[in-house]
Amino acid sequence: MNELLQEINEPAASAQGVRLLLWRDDLANHDLPGNKARKLKYNLAAAQQQGHHTLLTFGGAYSNHIAAVATAGRLFGFHTIGLIRGDAPASGTDPALLNPTLAQATAEGMALHYLGRSAYRHRAELDFLAEQLARFGPAYVLPEGGTNALALPGCAELVAELRQLTDFDALAVAVGTGGTLAGLLTGLAGQQQAVGVAALKNGSFLSAEVDALTQQTVGQTFANYSLQTDYHFGGYAKYSVELLSFIELFRAQHGVLLDPVYTGKMLFAVLDLIKKGYFPRGSTVVAIHTGGLQAWAGWRQRFG
Ligand SMILES: *Cc1c(COP(=O)(O)O)cnc(C)c1O
Repeated sequence: MNELLQEINEPAASAQGVRLLLWRDDLANHDLPGNKARKLKYNLAAAQQQGHHTLLTFGGAYSNHIAAVATAGRLFGFHTIGLIRGDAPASGTDPALLNPTLAQATAEGMALHYLGRSAYRHRAELDFLAEQLARFGPAYVLPEGGTNALALPGCAELVAELRQLTDFDALAVAVGTGGTLAGLLTGLAGQQQAVGVAALKNGSFLSAEVDALTQQTVGQTFANYSLQTDYHFGGYAKYSVELLSFIELFRAQHGVLLDPVYTGKMLFAVLDLIKKGYFPRGSTVVAIHTGGLQAWAGWRQRFG
């Protein structure tokens, strides 16, 4: 054990004979924590190798990925351009009036531009990307959420670091685009399993995304994972009293702050699955705290 791996003592887990550990990737790298940093690592190396000076990416106004790219740009010397979903705030680009995520991104040097929702839908299309590059100049393009083939090896490294500290039978991780889960799968060995917990509603399409990503990156798909789609609490970034109470209770009992969009749902799901006997008696389950805590500031501003 070290400070990144924490034992979570829950009566429900001991009752089922399951050992629950929490991997604190939210603490793994002080400047750039969590899975968004893992996904950026080899993309940043590629951008550098290809001689790029600018990163261009996409995201919602509260996006953890936008926040991470802005920070990475400051740390590694890239200009950064964020194309944000939705209309420009009526307040304009005055940093004092932006939401906390975008204010921080601006402070780190990111140039923000807004794409109306219908334009934003084209964000992954080659023609549309070519138009954006014509508009903003040469840049290394990172897709929304930072998920592409180069995102996977950085996530696989988490598994290697974890293996240095403990044996385990299953990993659990929150799923947005599926890139992190796909990367973790490429790092697992032997009988180890993964459980992905979808943060969005109707997430069953995500297993096809995960399979496509691992196929593209390591030339195979994996059968040793399940995708849990019943723990979205109303949908992506939706307000749920039940989820917020769980997050509060978890903090009171274990001293760990989870985020309201991803890791809160994942931990809720893991404890629920443990109670339902999903994990065999005697298993060690490692839940991954993928970070995302920057979202709280914007969350409080929206919901109080
Ligand atoms: C983005 C994010 C995820 C989901 O990662 P994907 O690779 O998009 O599936 C999970 N947890 C946190 C905190 C995130 O910011």
